[in-house]
Amino acid sequence: MKPRDRINRLKKLYLIMVAVGFLALGILAFTEKYISPGPFKTLLYGALTLFLAGNILLHIGIRCPKCKAILGYVIIFSAGKAYECPRCRIKFDEEMP
Ligand SMILES: [Zn+2]
Repeated sequence: MKPRDRINRLKKLYLIMVAVGFLALGILAFTEKYISPGPFKTLLYGALTLFLAGNILLHIGIRCPKCKAILGYVIIFSAGKAYECPRCRIKFDEEMP
């Protein structure tokens, strides 16, 4: 498997967590008056946790398969496509040995 496949899969998973958490927060905001406070609080914290965890994992949860450098910033914020690990220079599009 190429490192990029692994990275993209993780990235997709974390983005889904953020999206689902965000969506749940939006839905909760509109349904607050229909839900009793107890379950509402549980759902709210659940959605918040999912949203925050997804965000955090996007930043620190994507690591270089070789040197374990944290790649979140490189992957998310690089203007172009990131081609290699900034620390060990492993190429993301080459098969792992
Ligand atoms: Zn590396």
